[in-house]
Amino acid sequence: MLSSADFQHRMAIISDQIQEACDKAGRKKESVKTMVVTKNHGFEVTKMAYEHGFRLFGENRIQETQEKYAQNHGLSLELHMIGHLQSNKAKIACELCSCIQSIDKIKTLLEVQKQAKNLDKVQDVMFQINTSLEDSKSGVRDINELWPLIDQACHCPNIKVIGLMTIGPFDAPEKKIRRCFSDLRELGNRIISRYPGINLKDLSMGMSDDFHLAIAEGATLLRLGRILLGERYA
Ligand SMILES: *Cc1c(COP(=O)(O)O)cnc(C)c1O
Repeated sequence: MLSSADFQHRMAIISDQIQEACDKAGRKKESVKTMVVTKNHGFEVTKMAYEHGFRLFGENRIQETQEKYAQNHGLSLELHMIGHLQSNKAKIACELCSCIQSIDKIKTLLEVQKQAKNLDKVQDVMFQINTSLEDSKSGVRDINELWPLIDQACHCPNIKVIGLMTIGPFDAPEKKIRRCFSDLRELGNRIISRYPGINLKDLSMGMSDDFHLAIAEGATLLRLGRILLGERYA
């Protein structure tokens, strides 16, 4: 595992890089939040990041999330589900996660509504959009599938839509990556004008290799794994 000093060193470098990207884009650094993506790392890594001040954590598999976070760990942290969610796992996701970023189907949305209602909570969600149209990625690909999904969400009293999420293409030219991120931002703007009732505040985009591009295109929430924590050992 990464040592605490190592982590601190990485944190400092990334913090400078985020600042630099914000300066270039004419944005305030406070407008960009950073989530630590702890998938494939043990709970001790979460704890270390927490001790260095991070409060927002992302996981992509329900089972791993449950193993790490189901017991009371005594930390007041916020957990987001950023991986594909099967509707039969919606209950655990609602129990453990303050936000589910990966909603892309009506079936999952309705199951989340049901489980959130049972828990008597309002569940924050984001819609995952497949902006790169890569087959390997989940997310809504076709805008004609997005509108019914949002219409449905508007009728779910236990669901609050707070943003959009996308994963940039891997190994693509910079221009293409930026296009995916700007597409997400523009889609957000279309949603805001079409659904004035939705407070779409977050654009979750940008990972270890492309977060500077995401900042340039308006990201409000970066999801950083490897660059902060090193390669995963699982
Ligand atoms: C793993 C993962 C990340 C973090 O990726 P890194 O390249 O390690 O920064 C971000 N978002 C999602 C959806 C992921 O699955």
